[in-house]
Amino acid sequence: MWIGVPKEIKNHEYRVGLTPAAVRELVAHGHHILVESRAGAGIGMSDDDYGRAGAEIVMAAEEVFARAEMIVKVKEPQPQECQRLRPGQILFTYLHLAPDPEQTQLLKASGAVAIAYETVTDSQGRLPLLAPMSEVAGRMAIQVGAHGLEKASGGAGVLLAGVPGVSPGKVVVIGGGVVGANAARMAMGLGAEVVLLDKSLPRLAEIDAHYGPHLRTLYATAEAVEEAVYAADLVIGAVLIPGATAPKLVTRPMLGHMRPGSVLVDVAIDQGGCFETSYSTTHTEPTYLVDGIVHYCVANMPGAVPRTSTFALTNATLPYVLRLADLDWQQALRDDPHLRNGLNIADGHIVHPAVAEAMGEIP
Ligand code: NAD
Repeated sequence: MWIGVPKEIKNHEYRVGLTPAAVRELVAHGHHILVESRAGAGIGMSDDDYGRAGAEIVMAAEEVFARAEMIVKVKEPQPQECQRLRPGQILFTYLHLAPDPEQTQLLKASGAVAIAYETVTDSQGRLPLLAPMSEVAGRMAIQVGAHGLEKASGGAGVLLAGVPGVSPGKVVVIGGGVVGANAARMAMGLGAEVVLLDKSLPRLAEIDAHYGPHLRTLYATAEAVEEAVYAADLVIGAVLIPGATAPKLVTRPMLGHMRPGSVLVDVAIDQGGCFETSYSTTHTEPTYLVDGIVHYCVANMPGAVPRTSTFALTNATLPYVLRLADLDWQQALRDDPHLRNGLNIADGHIVHPAVAEAMGEIP
């Protein structure tokens, strides 16, 4: 199959749909890969790197779209990219169509087969192509939180690791899913004192079995959350109720009980945030203060580390790209109901129930 990788054109998007290593795998399966010139520049991958892996470097995005049977990207297609898609062409990327009627209409009009990373599932109902970005965000949360605790950031001037003779910082992680577990792991690695809260007892049991006595787990009643937050130097908000806005677990009055200069990192900000005082910020100005508490609320945290994020994403997407390319896409989707859950739009129709519902249509 002819597979195209255009350079991402969304503002401040540096990731790329395939790494050279993924290109090499696909070439070994007999596929032809077209990579737009400088597509990997943002992650330090040159045209030569892609060329050595067996890709053909193409100067213009138009040519990638015109010659490829499948387009592999990272971000949702921008309007000019939608216009380049043609009937029957496969688009495999993050789409996030539910809140985006304009893109949905453009994709319907294109006649392309749009398969969304974020709705592909696994045998346990998890979202394997979203998980790598949650891993990145969870691990980054401690890094940015540690920075926020420094005096120059408005923080209390606490070193999370402590030093011999001085207690380490206290980290509270609310939500023990992919983000929360990765944040807890990083915080433990630094030597911080870590408490993790969740509403799911089975999840707390899993975490306890995995991390042992060095990670304290608590069932997330309002009282337990309050007590933990008041004692914390750094709080990570990592809850998710699928399809719903995040519950506000830390209210404004609660900030008054925290030590000034403590830090809140609201990873759940992309679902509205789980702290009452959170609003979305950017990598250029990631933090702000409310009642003396530092807030970090960047909605696309993995964007700060596009190289790691690209490798993590491609590791997860490659098996699906291979299947879509090796088989006819209809066969690949028939064979795998989890990949089939990724199908959002085909032949001008919305086929994913949640997207159809969001657009007021019956699938
Ligand atoms: P997940 O489904 O793996 O985990 C969510 C956890 O929250 C679950 O264990 C669930 O039991 C728990 N939970 C739900 N309600 C709770 C409550 N009231 N109290 C305590 N725990 C509760 O989800 P995830 O992949 O870890 O993602 C967490 C959030 O991070 C999501 O909103 C996701 O969109 C977001 N995220 C943000 C970024 C970013 O750049 N800001 C990047 C990746 C993910």
